[in-house]
Amino acid sequence: MADTLLTPAATAAASDALHADILISGAGPVGLTLALALARRGQPSLLVDARPRDASRADPRALALSHGTRQLLEQLSAWPARAATPITTIHVSQRGGFGRTEMTAAEEGVPALGYVVRYGDLWTALAARAEQEGLAWRDTTRVADHGSVADGQRRLALHRDGRLPLPCTTRLLVHAEGTPYDDPAVSVKDYGQHAVLAEVSTAQPHGNRAWERFTPDGPLALLPLEDKLAVVFTVPPEKAERLLALDDAAFVAALQAQFGRRLAFTAAGPRASFPLALRLRGALAGEREVWIGNTAQTLHPVSGQGFNLGLRDAWELAEALTPHGLAVRDPGEARTLAAYAAARQLDRRGSAVFTDGIVRLFSNDAAPLRIARGLGLLALDLVPPARHFVARRMIWGARGW
Ligand SMILES: Cc1cc2nc3c(=O)[nH]c(=O)nc-3n(C[C@H](O)[C@H](O)[C@H](O)COP(=O)(O)OP(=O)(O)OC[C@H]3O[C@@H](n4cnc5c(N)ncnc54)[C@H](O)[C@@H]3O)c2cc1C
Repeated sequence: MADTLLTPAATAAASDALHADILISGAGPVGLTLALALARRGQPSLLVDARPRDASRADPRALALSHGTRQLLEQLSAWPARAATPITTIHVSQRGGFGRTEMTAAEEGVPALGYVVRYGDLWTALAARAEQEGLAWRDTTRVADHGSVADGQRRLALHRDGRLPLPCTTRLLVHAEGTPYDDPAVSVKDYGQHAVLAEVSTAQPHGNRAWERFTPDGPLALLPLEDKLAVVFTVPPEKAERLLALDDAAFVAALQAQFGRRLAFTAAGPRASFPLALRLRGALAGEREVWIGNTAQTLHPVSGQGFNLGLRDAWELAEALTPHGLAVRDPGEARTLAAYAAARQLDRRGSAVFTDGIVRLFSNDAAPLRIARGLGLLALDLVPPARHFVARRMIWGARGW
């Protein structure tokens, strides 16, 4: 598809300034979800992304998506059904300490506790839907700065490789640009950990079971993905470098040593690593601009909350901009944005506190904490309401509280 498809909402005026009532900066999974949710409610927008259209297809992350996320993506006809592997059991334990628990879909009365999908497959399903709907979308186009506000519009420039900047006006600039680095408006808590990712094979079939194993280095998650397991191996940065440098057999041995003997690993695919930090933006809304998805909050991947939360940002922003299915007259109106920002606080803060709490509790190997963890896991195992509480957060996100 050409990168300059224009709809009535994104038209070049006589002055050659492009206008879009809603400009979404970032066509990652959250930006795409917003554009689709708005289109479904009759509100056009213009998507721009700094990268070429296909760059996201190769992203190596495996994402655990909640049952609630599946339901929302199905409403957009963007659920990647064939690429999604259901999780029917989650086994939680700690290495070198007592206590373990298991949550099951049957106990919670749902078909699956969650689903594992490659980022690239999720993105491809959303992008295919956007192309079917003919959404306005420019790739290799970057919003370099926020511009300025005058006459009820934000004026900015769209930068394209090797071409003159294109002036643009919008009533609302939505930032969906992913993890913010070096932004003074964002508080950063560096976990001093990296996530090493790989897909591995095991001697036994995974049986749709996910494993969350807490080790002295940090949490180790294994997620069923097609006939393999997707590994998120949380380790200190120096160890991440060493793991990336290992050949496949040595990596398999290192993983086996970290995980223990409950599974027998037989092969590993290519590795990638991501630095881990909690990044929280103070204000979600400014003058004719709003932040959603990872640019609003970036969480540790331990409990698989990030995209699920970003999707709820996109969904609720679409609802705020089209109450009762009718587009508001001015999408950048301060009152609308303030109401949206206030409504999102409980979900985003709750998800950040939940995730950060798990990281802190399970990344410290002091003996008293090891015992407290063991007791916590034992309590989860013995007290069904406590287990339901955690399971429902995995299944539904904030609605599970
Ligand atoms: C190791 C790891 C494991 C994870 N596991 C899970 C999980 O199990 N479950 C889960 O829910 N989440 C998980 N996450 C989080 C999840 O990946 C993110 O929450 C999700 O990708 C955020 O989507 P996004 O669209 O906000 O940002 P991104 O996916 O980062 O997309 C941002 C887009 O904006 C574009 N862009 C950037 N700057 C500009 C600009 N100036 N102008 C225009 N375009 C721009 C980029 O090119 C990109 O396409 C994990 C993350 C990591 C790192």
